[in-house]
Amino acid sequence: METLTGIKITKTKHSKLDEADFSNLEFGKYTSDHMLVADFYHGQWSDAQIVPFANLSMSPTALCLHYGQTVFEGMKAFRMKDGRVNIFRIDKHHERFNRSLRRMCMAEIPYEIFEEGMKELVTLDKSWVPDADGSSLYIRPFMYASEAKFGVKPSDEYRFIIFTGPVGQLFPKPVKMKVEREYIRAAKGGTGSTKCGGNYGGAMYPTKLAREEGYDNVIWTDAGEHEFIEESGAMNLMFVINGKLLTPPNSDSILDGVTRDSLMIIAKDMGIDYEERPVSVNEIKDAFKKGAITEAYAVGTAAVASPIGVIGIDGENYQLPPVNESGIVFQMKKKLDAIRCGTAEDINNWNTIVG
Ligand SMILES: *Cc1c(COP(=O)(O)O)cnc(C)c1O
Repeated sequence: METLTGIKITKTKHSKLDEADFSNLEFGKYTSDHMLVADFYHGQWSDAQIVPFANLSMSPTALCLHYGQTVFEGMKAFRMKDGRVNIFRIDKHHERFNRSLRRMCMAEIPYEIFEEGMKELVTLDKSWVPDADGSSLYIRPFMYASEAKFGVKPSDEYRFIIFTGPVGQLFPKPVKMKVEREYIRAAKGGTGSTKCGGNYGGAMYPTKLAREEGYDNVIWTDAGEHEFIEESGAMNLMFVINGKLLTPPNSDSILDGVTRDSLMIIAKDMGIDYEERPVSVNEIKDAFKKGAITEAYAVGTAAVASPIGVIGIDGENYQLPPVNESGIVFQMKKKLDAIRCGTAEDINNWNTIVG
């Protein structure tokens, strides 16, 4: 079967839809029936194909396994109130993916494969998009160096894949964060603003140590002085201090989150007072002492906006007030959810409705 965009589709003979427990969608557990695959060789992309989700086969010398040329994206499709399916900010994710690829010296992916291919894939596996509140179809585009050659060099061959899987609501309860002042995630001039695999591998050990101390995750600080707040895990950070919304500005050591960007646009649209500027650890500590900090959230595609309950700074735990539904970030999140499910107007053209 061939589609309007010329993407060849081979449908699965055995749908796994009946095997997925949609009442208990553990994050990362289920994959939908199909995936999109395209290969880059001899300087160009092959036609994308949609095939049944399956294991990969590769040479042990494939460059991605050794030197870390791997990049991914994380995005979502939502079931709207009227039953249609919407992919959120597909162009923004595509743009960020290409930015990551450039930094990692990898081949960029064209519109026809990333955006048209994703629309075809999500349309084909539409019945996998859950409809419970807070649930969605997680979409994982990624690319790796597929050339089989064991010398250190940028690969001449790449494979691009998109798979999807239904996920439920994440982090219902406030999380405990440790401000990390020894290890770092990213430095100026490094790869922190890209979604390359190595960034996440390097973050695991400090995160494990924080978990052993009873925290859920770490808040990274700048690599130079450990004095300025950067971000957390795979989430950006937002604070409300003295009634003002604050978020650290994007830089080459902070990932430019689509959720953060969307919430800031919503803040502007809603007339919320906000500032994008460096936030120091001392400012946070002071704000706790004065009772001036009323909200702290980690924001990202996986959990949208996850409230922070405790922030640990230099061995001392500071407690945030309980989540208040009239709070600034809560209201912005509600607006974002409403835009995604079609109950608020999509004035910024964020939704791509695939039927
Ligand atoms: C993906 C990611 C984010 C959040 O980005 P979203 O586009 O909102 O999902 C923030 N920080 C890091 C390090 C990430 O990998």
